[in-house]
Amino acid sequence: MDIVVQKFGGSSVADAEKLKNAAKRIVDAYDSGKFVVVVVSAQGDTTDELLEKAKQVNPAASKREMDMLLSTGEQISMSLLAMTIEAMGYPVVSLTGWQAGISTNSKYSCSRIKKVDTERILRELDSKRIVIVAGFQGINKFDDITTLGRGGSDTTAVALAAALHAQVCEIYTDVDGIYTADPRIVENAKKLKNISYDEMLELSSLGANVLQNRSVEMALKYNVKLEVKSSFEKIPGTVIKEVEKVEKMIVRGVTKDDNIVLVSIVNIENTPGKAFKIFSLLARENINIDVILQSVGRGGTKDITFTVDFDNAATAVRVLKENLSALGADSVEYTENVSKVSVVGAGMASNPGVAALMFEALSDVGININMISTSEIKISVLIDQKDSKNAVRAIHDKFNLA
Ligand code: ADP
Ligand code: ASP
Ligand code: MG
Repeated sequence: MDIVVQKFGGSSVADAEKLKNAAKRIVDAYDSGKFVVVVVSAQGDTTDELLEKAKQVNPAASKREMDMLLSTGEQISMSLLAMTIEAMGYPVVSLTGWQAGISTNSKYSCSRIKKVDTERILRELDSKRIVIVAGFQGINKFDDITTLGRGGSDTTAVALAAALHAQVCEIYTDVDGIYTADPRIVENAKKLKNISYDEMLELSSLGANVLQNRSVEMALKYNVKLEVKSSFEKIPGTVIKEVEKVEKMIVRGVTKDDNIVLVSIVNIENTPGKAFKIFSLLARENINIDVILQSVGRGGTKDITFTVDFDNAATAVRVLKENLSALGADSVEYTENVSKVSVVGAGMASNPGVAALMFEALSDVGININMISTSEIKISVLIDQKDSKNAVRAIHDKFNLA
């Protein structure tokens, strides 16, 4: 069975015109003899609007009810898209996440897909129907609707592509591929023909929200060929796959993440076990920590500073404050005015001087670095948020990525 999975993001199904455009793409694939499974996101800013509506009635709504609400956005798109295709005279059916057999764990608002039962989808494909699936949602063991975290429709698409052994998973969006930096920030960013899973995973984990990082993780795990392309222009996009040989290019892209908070625990006792205590408290709350910095101990105390996702910051600060005396610390401080700017590239490990060049770019434009973290294929710096766009542009220029 020649199956393709096509995913259309929010801006690609935002209104009647765009729905018709997406429908045209879909029936073209169908007419070429393929079995087509489509995943849709909520229209335009629907998810943000729903979040706002919830806030007006209950700023601390339970995650279960939030998922109930947010999942409706995708259900509007899936039915409208199916109707659009019906009007063109093609056989089509739309399915919610649970109808499509998508089971998740029970973590509302950031569930992970555990299993895809493809029986229903295969049956629909067998009857020659185009299948439209609501992205971003599934069902848990309590038969409750769950959602997969912001940008989660990408992950729905990859999960279906993996389960259905699709030839390719096409991600249709408002840019025509993956660029060396967000083209909305860097005007002369260059489109990449292809990029490796590892590089894409770093880019998306470090703030390039063009793909949800879990979708890349899953594509890598199940060897799903992913292509990011424009829903408006018929031109080749960027293919994400195992790249045989890294091109000369040492750095593939620059990205930033403004969605982080810097937390500091001030004047902790400088004795063994304190870092262990802090990070196990946070792990118990399921909070992922990113860049960590410990100051050199002086006068019997030290500071430990780290970054967390914006969504986890309030919990992290609360837990640490509750345990201040157990940690033997003076206070917990935090700031939201930070941004993490990163360069990513698989060729980096074997090329000295990448870090120096990155720091030179920042020094040229007078941007101060607060923290640094490196791995085999990325270097990240923490800077003031007001400087983040400038930093991305300066680094992009310095590495001649255009
Ligand atoms: P969709 O609604 O289709 O899921 P998203 O808004 O989630 O679309 O993702 C597309 C956006 O990702 C683009 O509009 C672009 O601004 C942003 N983006 C960030 N980094 C990059 C990058 N390196 N290459 C391409 N797009 C990027
Ligand atoms: N509608 C959801 C969001 O805005 C999921 C998605 O678009 O992928 O995050
Ligand atoms: Mg998206």
